[in-house]
Order: sequence, then structure tokens, then C-alpha cells
Amino acid sequence: MSTAANTRSAPGVVYWFRNDLRLHDTPGLARAVALAERIGGWLLPVHVHDEAWHDPTPWGFARTGLHRLAWQQMAVESLGSGLHKLGSQLLHWRAEPVASLHALLDTLGQPELVCEEIAAPYEQTQLAQLRALGVRLHSVWQSTLIAPEALPCPPEAVPDTFTHFRQLLERHRVHASAPLPAPEALPPLPSPELLALAERALAGHARALPTAQVRVDPRAAFPWHRPECHGGEAAALAHLAHYCARGLPHTYKATRNELTGVEGSSKWSPWLATGALSPRTAWAAIAAFEAEHGATPSSYWLFFELLWRDHFRWLHRKHGLRLYRAQGLGEAPVPAHNARAFARWCQGETGDAFIDAGMRELAATGFLSNRMRQNVASHLIHELQGDWRAGAAWFEARLIDHDVYSNQGNWLYLSGRGTDPRANRRFDSARQTQMYDPGGHYRALWA
Ligand code: FAD
Repeated sequence: MSTAANTRSAPGVVYWFRNDLRLHDTPGLARAVALAERIGGWLLPVHVHDEAWHDPTPWGFARTGLHRLAWQQMAVESLGSGLHKLGSQLLHWRAEPVASLHALLDTLGQPELVCEEIAAPYEQTQLAQLRALGVRLHSVWQSTLIAPEALPCPPEAVPDTFTHFRQLLERHRVHASAPLPAPEALPPLPSPELLALAERALAGHARALPTAQVRVDPRAAFPWHRPECHGGEAAALAHLAHYCARGLPHTYKATRNELTGVEGSSKWSPWLATGALSPRTAWAAIAAFEAEHGATPSSYWLFFELLWRDHFRWLHRKHGLRLYRAQGLGEAPVPAHNARAFARWCQGETGDAFIDAGMRELAATGFLSNRMRQNVASHLIHELQGDWRAGAAWFEARLIDHDVYSNQGNWLYLSGRGTDPRANRRFDSARQTQMYDPGGHYRALWA
């Protein structure tokens, strides 16, 4: 009997985890579960370690560095354990996603495929290629705090400037909807025979998964060498609970610019980036905190910051590929790439002690405070007259919280090539040093 005939009698659904490595508040997974239940079939959760993450960039380094790979690996392993506890399993392999998913789906009798929608060019191309191959694909938007249907305008028509966007939402009293609970049970897996066939089909595509062992410097502002900052979903939720239990939403606004220490800002971004934490869950915890302890401008500021994150997502829906032009949305010529100056910047050897401290922290830990990100990016763009795309690529490779929308958006913003009307977002390093590291503690820490 042919494979296809076998599988026709065993319908099912494949759920492809992308930047949503969690079980709580995952509308895409809920959709896959509902589809599988409707047809009385199986559900196969999968994750693909994308071969392209190891590709070289045009700037002379690999697209994804070891810290980020290790952080991602923790989230995937934790998701695998979570699925296992529900009697399911994560099929996880390293390959080019489109061809390998297509081979898998073929072997399984072409079931429907459900995944998260990601509005960035590379991820969009993957979905377009899968659809062109005839895959029955459902992609679900789920990475914003505010759902697209709750916006007062279509996502493709949001105001270009953040302030106008925020004011629009405030005027319409837009709220985030409640997060979905994690499923208590999942549809069964495909039969062992079918799973064995699937694994055989993948063997022709897959390479050995990397085992990224890294040392995280204990000076890290985000101390992910500690168990409480593990990359998985359980640690993310525990961190959120701890953040509220310590009353930190009430001090956020005053401390968020601190360069060191875990408590200055929320440190949600590493988990938000892999999807181990959902923004709605993060905000629901703050809203519950406010209900009990009172809302303050400080706790509101966390909402404000999550709106920045949303805004960069909607700008991708609005402007798409234009955000990836060297000139961005403007027409100003892009300075030539100076490989030597760029290398010195990457290594923390520019000669500006404040900037160098930031670049060393980034290299040693995969994390950097927002204040330092602004300063080092400004230094590359405005002092070294470098190509902002090289800086964005370096951040993409190094940051464990790399998020395509926020990274692209912030670099464009600082280079004056995004949607912001102010062309010059230059940070004066001497002044910033005076304001944020007056005693030299940070510079000494990373000297
Ligand atoms: P908090 O200050 O506690 O803020 C809470 C959350 O709000 C953050 O976790 C984040 O999700 C969101 N947020 C805060 N500030 C911003 C912002 N400026 N833009 C978008 N979202 C924001 N953030 C990433 O998550 N991934 C990136 O790849 C990334 N690249 C950046 C590149 C540059 C050049 C700059 C200047 C900023 C970048 N940011 C990026 C934004 C910001 O620096 C980080 O989100 C923040 O430092 C993470 O620390 P936190 O979670 O403690 O933030």
C-alpha cells in the first residue's frame, strides 16, 4: 500500500512553531488543535532549526551567534518538555524549512499546516513558497499586544509616528484582550508507523542539530547563566510573577535606564523574542498588579513600551520591503561601509570608553540595556558614519532577544531613515556618559 493511501485514513494537522516557543496564549496552536479536533485527527508539533541561521552575512560574520543559538535551544528544549507532559512530542530538526516541511507534509498525506504569521520579508517568503508548493497553510497573527481587529484602523494604515499611533489607541480606549490559557490536553500524535515514516523523510534533508555551549559572563545585566533566567517558558512566567511580587512595575519608569542589574527594566525581551513569553501574558500580569496595588505612570510605561514593540510590527505590515532598503524610507545616500572602523566598533575598541563598554557587554552576554543600544547604534551611524545595516546585522547575530521588527525599526529610527520625522537622532556620548555612568562604574565593569 502506498504512503499516501495509508495516510488518507489518518488525517491530521501539523503545527509549526516559529517565534512562539510556548504553550500559553498561542492562538495559532489553539487553531491547530481546533482543526485537528474537527477532523478527529492527530496533531504533530514541529520546529525547524533553520539552516540559514548559520549563513554568512555580507558583513563578514554568521547571521546567528552562539549566544543566540544557545538561548533559542533552551526555549526549544523547554517547549519539547512541555509538549511531552501533555502526552505529545516536538519533532525538531535542522534543515532548510520549506523543502523539509514540504517533504514531511508529503509523507504525512498533505495535512494542513498551521503556524505563526511573521510580517518580515524572509519569513513571508517561506510562507509564499510553501503555498506555491500547494501546502494548505493557515498562518495566524499572534505576536502583538493588541490584536489587529482591535485597532481603530487597519494595521496597514497605522500612523507612521509612534506618538500619533499611541494617541490614536488612547483616544479609542483600545485594550489588550485576555491571554489564552495553555492547553490542558492535545490531540494524539500520528501513529508510530506514520511518525517513523516522517522521520525517514526528514533524514534526507536534516543535518545534526548544533549543541551551542556558551559561557555567559556573570557581569551580565540579564544574568541568564542563572537558573531563574533559563530560556524556557516556565522560567519566563516565573520571572514575570517575581517582577510583580517585588513591586517593580512601580519603579520601572525611574530605573529603566540603569545600565546594570536585572531589576532596572523588565528583562522580558529575551523571552518575548523566542515567544517563550507572550506580550498579552506580560501585560495581563501588570494589569493584575495594578488592580491590586494601583496603577501609576510607572506601571503604565510598561504598556507604552509594549506599544512601541507593536508599532514596529505594524510598520512592517505597512511598509514591508521598503524598510529593508539601504536608504530605508528616505532617499539620503548611505555612507560607505568602513570595514576597519566597523570591526573596531564590534570589538569594543573605538576609543570611547562608554561605547566600548557597551560593545564588550554585548559580545560577552548577548544582552544590552536599551540606553546602551541607543548609544552604540548612534555611535556607529553618526560618529563613524557607518552603514546602519551592518550594525543591525551585528545586533541580529549577537542579541539573544533579537526581534526582527524591533531591531530593524530601532536602527532605522536612529539612522533617520524610518518613519520618524526627526532626521537626527544623535546621542552625545560625553553627555550620556555623564548622565548614566557618572561614577564610571559601568565603564570599569567592562574595561
Ligand atoms: P523594558 O524597558 O523593560 O521594556 C519592556 C518591553 O517593551 C521590552 O521587553 C520590549 O518588548 C518593549 N520595548 C521597550 N523598548 C522598546 C523599543 N525601543 N522598541 C521595541 N520594543 C521595545 N528589542 C528587542 O526586543 N529586540 C531587538 O532586536 C531590539 N533591537 C534594538 C536595537 C536598537 C538599535 C535599539 C535602540 C533598541 C532595540 N530593542 C530591541 C529595543 C529595546 O532596547 C529592548 O526591547 C529592551 O532593551 C529590552 O529590555 P527589557 O525587556 O528590560 O525592556
